[in-house]
Amino acid sequence: MANSRFEYVKLFERENFLLPETHIVIRVDGRGFHKLSAKYSFAKPNDLGALELMNRTAQKLMDQMPDISLAYGDSDEYSFLLRKGCGLFERREAKLITTFASTFTAYYQFYWPQYMKQPLEEDRLPTFDARAVVYPSEPTVRDYFAWRQVDCHINNLYNTTFWSLVEGGMTPKEAENELIGTLAADKNEILFQRFGINYNNEPALYKKGTVLIRGPIFEDADGQRDKSKRQQERQEKKMKKRPIVERHIDIIGASFWDGEKEEKKQ
Ligand code: ATP
Ligand code: ATP
Ligand code: MG
Ligand code: MG
Ligand code: MG
Ligand code: MG
Ligand code: MG
Repeated sequence: MANSRFEYVKLFERENFLLPETHIVIRVDGRGFHKLSAKYSFAKPNDLGALELMNRTAQKLMDQMPDISLAYGDSDEYSFLLRKGCGLFERREAKLITTFASTFTAYYQFYWPQYMKQPLEEDRLPTFDARAVVYPSEPTVRDYFAWRQVDCHINNLYNTTFWSLVEGGMTPKEAENELIGTLAADKNEILFQRFGINYNNEPALYKKGTVLIRGPIFEDADGQRDKSKRQQERQEKKMKKRPIVERHIDIIGASFWDGEKEEKKQ
């Protein structure tokens, strides 16, 4: 490429290389889905098709990015864990998050007609943002994913109770007031006493969200940096071939992660 006198402007660019030897987590989240879900008449509190569409999209992204070993999603968000030694885009933050957001958005729109009844409208297209966070250790990664699943649980219990009250005849404002200051136990009680709903029997997909595993979760790229291009490509191929397993299970307790360790030993 010929240099020109204009080329100096390139020097104004700044690059954030995510810290080496750390676990990168990228979370995508739908933009304005509170409104968008109303616009496209999502079933409340949980539209099954919309959740399956999220899961399908996340699976596809995992298919295409062999560095992802684990993903967790609920509502309009998905978190992706990259292997510690991941060298994708030289760990350039801007490249990573813009690629995740745009690829996720593209597939979400591509698959939309397969899962949703209403066609997409030009001026109301679903889009996603993304952010990356690096975590220094396996325990902090575990706590990150626990944090997201606890959030799913709290929101789902709230939403299930809220929409039961609304279906039971309250206005949204009345339902909101009814729930101010209530604890989890109170919401369970409202559901059971007034609506005969045992929250424990709600679908695991709604209560726990979705875990996509392409184990072993914490397997490192063992010195990806020292590998030749061909070795790297071979490893990528190997990881791509591993099946992605979808689960709706608890990832807050130790057993999910310890079971993972047991498998590693064998
Ligand atoms: P932001 O752009 O800041 O993320 P947002 O409106 O998307 O704003 P979120 O906190 O991400 O806010 O909340 C997403 C909202 O989308 C939920 O509160 C819920 O109302 C709706 N939603 C997402 N998925 C579903 C679904 N499968 N079924 C029903 N509603 C859903
Ligand atoms: P990266 O992911 O790093 O951006 P890249 O392959 O996209 O890699 P670019 O430097 O962005 O590399 O170059 C884009 C290339 O796409 C061009 O070199 C050209 O070959 C091709 N291309 C883009 N637009 C057109 C077009 N309208 N017609 C023909 N070729 C095009
Ligand atoms: Mg947000
Ligand atoms: Mg959102
Ligand atoms: Mg969200
Ligand atoms: Mg390009
Ligand atoms: Mg270009």
